[in-house]
Amino acid sequence: EKLFRLFLFKFFIMSLEEEIKKRRTFGIISHPDAGKTTLTEKLLLFGGAINEAGAVKSNKIKKTAASDFMEIERQRGISVSTSVLAFNFKDKKINILDTPGHKDFAEDTYRTLTAVDSVIVVIDVAKGVEEQTEKLVEVCRMRQIPIIIFINKLDREGKDAFDLLDEVEKKLGLTVTPLSFPIGMGLNFKGIYNVWKKNIKIYQNDQKQIIGNKTTFNSLNDPELESIIGKKNIKNLKEELELIDGVYPSFEKNSYLNGDLHPVFFGSALNNYGVEDLLECFIEIAPFPLPKQSEKRIVEPKEEKFTGFIFKIHANMDPNHRNRLAFVKIVSGTFKRNTSYLHVRNNKNLKFSAPNTFFAEKKEIIEVSYPGDIVGLHDSGNFKIGDTLTSGESLNFIGIPNFSPEHFRYINNKNPMKAKQLEKGINQLMDEGIAQLFVLNLNGRKIIGTVGALQFDVIQYRLLNEYGAQCEYENINIYKACWVDGDKDCSSMDDFIRKKQKYLASDKKGKLVYLSDSEFTLKMAQQNYSDLKFHFTSEF
Ligand code: GDP
Repeated sequence: EKLFRLFLFKFFIMSLEEEIKKRRTFGIISHPDAGKTTLTEKLLLFGGAINEAGAVKSNKIKKTAASDFMEIERQRGISVSTSVLAFNFKDKKINILDTPGHKDFAEDTYRTLTAVDSVIVVIDVAKGVEEQTEKLVEVCRMRQIPIIIFINKLDREGKDAFDLLDEVEKKLGLTVTPLSFPIGMGLNFKGIYNVWKKNIKIYQNDQKQIIGNKTTFNSLNDPELESIIGKKNIKNLKEELELIDGVYPSFEKNSYLNGDLHPVFFGSALNNYGVEDLLECFIEIAPFPLPKQSEKRIVEPKEEKFTGFIFKIHANMDPNHRNRLAFVKIVSGTFKRNTSYLHVRNNKNLKFSAPNTFFAEKKEIIEVSYPGDIVGLHDSGNFKIGDTLTSGESLNFIGIPNFSPEHFRYINNKNPMKAKQLEKGINQLMDEGIAQLFVLNLNGRKIIGTVGALQFDVIQYRLLNEYGAQCEYENINIYKACWVDGDKDCSSMDDFIRKKQKYLASDKKGKLVYLSDSEFTLKMAQQNYSDLKFHFTSEF
């Protein structure tokens, strides 16, 4: 019997490992309008997960008006699964995690990045590296997340390909290696040379596609190829390929996986061109679910026992279904329906009868999920971003910090009859990670800090509509919030606390936060109290 059990155990571990190796969980990031939604849609087409283009609901918030946001959220409330788009391609299970492009939701995107194993960055060939791309890539670089770059809209006139590669290196601080290279662009766009597979695909936009025509060539010397794209283009391409060979490091999977080397692809998402090359390479090189650091130890995906963490909470804007959906990334073991798991922060066992999985845009109830997968759990207010669930072990994952907010306002109660509702509403919205609450040490006044200004309207609207509470804001002059710590019995901490009393607050965990009123005073404080540490994320 012992042998049989050992056999079962081995079988279990082996199939778990196989499931892990199949999975690719990633995010697509870009500045708004670079083509993230379009690319996502085409990827889903390849997976056969959707049948026609235009099926992916865009989560774009173009105008910075809260009403637009609310409208989008209401629509999304019905189809929250846009947060995860899963599909199968060849023998791989691919999970795309949606990241909002709007800068006011950058924190949501940062947190989603804690749950991805790699990213694809989309860049508009005409606009090059834009502001939002820079910020997001910086977060990826800090975490050494493997990055692939997709330069999009080659059917339009844009910057020279080499100039763009330069720009990516300089502005994003990445070391690039082109794995594909365009032949012309805009009206003269002829095709793409695939450095990875060493072949050429002739460009045909969606309308022009003629079935049966030869479109892929394996040799640059094929006379038919010359007749299609012209002698001059072939000569240029040959020179360019020599240059690429001489100037850029050749692709090495390990360097990419370590975050030291970044492959670049070119294409046109709208015309579904260059996307397949990207996807084919992606499934081969992108990492499968990686180990994750917890406070105690590193957790390996192939461990038998389940662990996972919550990286996103989606409120349901539909007034008839008020509960929230908490998104869990599975780190290790298997997650099963109707099984009791430990919610570590509350030290409480929870069982889920209807955990959701996602396929394309559909949400289904799942029996079992594996590392890399995202599971949606219905939640009536237990969860907070960053919470850990386990099979019983008391551990907490780290690396899901709050970021130092940049906009601040006092929040006041407008209707004294609804104080309780307001309190509950604020607490729950903060748990969702919309904004951060700071309580002034001096007088207990509440201050909301956000990454974007749009959030204030969102909070006000949701407090009223979901909790029946009314709030009003009052301006406050704060430049930046940062977390301060120092050695326990360091005398300058006492001094700091005495002198800066007016500017000190506690965050939700009771950590000391310094709300500096200007860049200058912050700098001075950092200088005058050089043995204290000033942190710009809540995790240190
Ligand atoms: P997102 O904001 O990054 O999600 O961008 P979208 O995918 O919504 O694309 C923004 C706009 O660019 C839309 O009008 C798309 O149709 C267009 N677009 C996307 N890809 C391409 C492309 O390859 N070529 C051209 N010409 N337009 C594109």
